[in-house]
Amino acid sequence: MYYVSTRNASLKFSASEAIVQGLSRDGGLFLPESIPQITMAQVEQLAKLPYPQRAAKIMKLYLEDFFEEELLGFAEKAYGPVKFDTPAAAPVVEVEPGNHVLELWHGPTCAFKDMALQMLPYLLTASLKKTGEEKTVCILVATSGDTGKAALEGFRDVEHTKILVFYPDGGVSDIQKLQMVTQEGANVGVCAVEGNFDDAQTGVKRIFSDAELREQLEKNGYFLSSANSINWGRVLPQIVYYISAYCDLLNAGAVKAGEKINFCVPTGNFGNILAGYYAKHMGLPVGKLICASNENNVLTDFIRTGTYDRNRPFYQTASPSMDILISSNLERLLYLLSGSDEEVRGYMESLNKTGKYTVSEKIRKAVAEEFACGYADDAMGAKTIQAIFTQKDYLMDTHTAVAYTVLKQYRAETADETPTVVDSTASPFKFCTSVLSALGETEQEKGTAIIGQLSSRTGRPAPKPLAELAGKTVRFEQVVSKENMKRVVTEFLR
Ligand SMILES: *Cc1c(COP(=O)(O)O)cnc(C)c1O
Repeated sequence: MYYVSTRNASLKFSASEAIVQGLSRDGGLFLPESIPQITMAQVEQLAKLPYPQRAAKIMKLYLEDFFEEELLGFAEKAYGPVKFDTPAAAPVVEVEPGNHVLELWHGPTCAFKDMALQMLPYLLTASLKKTGEEKTVCILVATSGDTGKAALEGFRDVEHTKILVFYPDGGVSDIQKLQMVTQEGANVGVCAVEGNFDDAQTGVKRIFSDAELREQLEKNGYFLSSANSINWGRVLPQIVYYISAYCDLLNAGAVKAGEKINFCVPTGNFGNILAGYYAKHMGLPVGKLICASNENNVLTDFIRTGTYDRNRPFYQTASPSMDILISSNLERLLYLLSGSDEEVRGYMESLNKTGKYTVSEKIRKAVAEEFACGYADDAMGAKTIQAIFTQKDYLMDTHTAVAYTVLKQYRAETADETPTVVDSTASPFKFCTSVLSALGETEQEKGTAIIGQLSSRTGRPAPKPLAELAGKTVRFEQVVSKENMKRVVTEFLR
């Protein structure tokens, strides 16, 4: 199976080439030429296996130039007991009859980014070997919080890699900052940048396009790569947990083989829900994919009208990982639904020039057929956190609460009673301030003490990686101006 770019389907790449390149040279995103199929009998077989084996078998369908044994080795390390606090890796919990939650935050950074970023380093380093690349890869990341920490944990001490993360000084939460500046590992670097997230991101982009710097780094045996969610190596590991969730529902007797389920996904960059679309089109019995947004509801409008328009105010919400106005992975869906690289190029050009585009009637209809949508603001999310905790004894974070609220709206509007799985994308302990406020606590502890406060208020233990933060040594204290980021890179890669 070959991979093509959403903006030029005539050039074909192997899976490992697509993973090494990350983004196609034409600016498009890589995807497989066709979607491999699985039968219900295969799903029932997978249901008997532990998570790493499910992962290896499913990923193998997309990765012809990898061996299943090899993938199993990666999955056992990525999702094993050193990294995840439950052998299920991504357990499913029934919160109310027919409403299940898929917990994607049992990894080392307590957010769903771990599901992909624990696997990506193995896929990337193996791809480098397969393509004959001998230089050490240096991952550069600009982060507004979650991705940086998850990438650091994923690449920490992985051979032939180094990772350098830039975050906006004062632009991340105390806990997110502490998570990063205490990062362990011999191949990691973390640096604060004066300014906001855009300053950090612009700085990183400038470094990527600096030909002179690249040449100099090549001489030193390095090349630069990125770990953001446009790499196919980040989408693929996410397909696994959709199928795995179905397996778990089968095992629990919550669905019969072949019975349809829905997924409701708190969405930002559209990577997570796109993986659900792939799972469905591999043959998993999925009805609706419900796309849940916060007040930055550009996707809700797109799904309802067929017009994507980013010209709108940007809101900072209590679910910051969904505060996004350009959902990059939507480009892959547009390609899948149109089958035309030329059409996708047109939409993306229009997005670049005018900040908006309107899809064809064919795409609009297909989107409406496959997806439902809705959005919830902070107050609605907070109400859900409070209600589900007091009535159902289940504690959820602000991102999950957006999706759970949208599911409730969807049920009320459509009378669709299909069993539904809500993707839970972060531990509530990662967003203590908002969760405590939702529970009515106004006096809040400072710094890491707030983790203990949420724990005693709810009677839930905090995940170990967060509970242990207070005792960790700060390793990285450098703060630089945007102009000096390049110097940080050259010093890091000397
Ligand atoms: C990244 C993230 C999301 C959004 O996922 P996308 O794949 O970008 O749609 C939702 N919740 C949390 C906690 C995240 O970290």
